[in-house]
Amino acid sequence: MPRAVSATTILAEPAGDPAQELELLARHRTIPARLRAAFLELRLGEPAAAIDATAEVLYGPVRPSANEEAFARYLRALAYARKGTPGYGNYDLERARALALDPELQRRLREIAPATEAPDPVSLADLAVQPRSAWRAAAPNRRDLEPMGRPTRLTIHHSAVYFRDTKTATSAAQIQRIQRDHMQSSGWADIGYHYLIDPAGRVWQGREVRWQGAHAEGRNNVGNIGICVLGNFVRGRTGQAPSRAQVAALRALVQDLLQRYDFGADAIYCHRDFKPTECPGPLLQPAVVQLARELGQRGPARVAHGQP
Ligand SMILES: [Zn+2]
Repeated sequence: MPRAVSATTILAEPAGDPAQELELLARHRTIPARLRAAFLELRLGEPAAAIDATAEVLYGPVRPSANEEAFARYLRALAYARKGTPGYGNYDLERARALALDPELQRRLREIAPATEAPDPVSLADLAVQPRSAWRAAAPNRRDLEPMGRPTRLTIHHSAVYFRDTKTATSAAQIQRIQRDHMQSSGWADIGYHYLIDPAGRVWQGREVRWQGAHAEGRNNVGNIGICVLGNFVRGRTGQAPSRAQVAALRALVQDLLQRYDFGADAIYCHRDFKPTECPGPLLQPAVVQLARELGQRGPARVAHGQP
């Protein structure tokens, strides 16, 4: 059972049957165990399972160290390459190269040629997600939360309240207000959205992704990640355009989620795809359509929804 994370522990060729070693690891949710599992899944020709194992490291309850993240991203890039979509791993490779400390990992990263089949259309913003503690989230009503399982789609909203402030504290207060509104006025278990993006382009964690959200009504919430861009993106006196930083952060977040959960650009929805509403607003909608189109060029695309 690996405890430390290094090339010797994670990337060593299995001494015996990799399937057997994998079985021994199955009950261990630690970061070293998940990294080793990802490596073994690759050896067994199971890149999708390897991607899942790395996702547990990158997005699990314990934040990985830079060294651990470098290994996770390296392994995920290998898995995407094995699946025939090496371009999906471009961002992972870039991050892995920036973070790698282990000399053997650094050497292996140097040996991988950059994928050339598709240019990466999305800016490589560092997606630091502000944790719930950063906005002093109230505890959710656990009894009313439903496990989401593996997400299969995402939906973009606006908060429909004019908001331009770029200070961290003001955004935190704004998100607290949304949570209060959702829990007290609407009676929901927690804030309805999984992510929120403020005018400075910060990404904030809303409801944890392991719980189903409350943002698209009823069954529409199944497997559906809710993203709220803070602001009121309608025309007229009370409206505003999204900031460039917000649009850039939205692109980075959406691309990251597509990679993380392995779904295509056809799984990008706007709230108005589910019901008659202006949400996410005519001034944000074109950016979403454009983003879906660009990401769709890298795989099978359905961008029929979301006409501006
Ligand atoms: Zn909405």
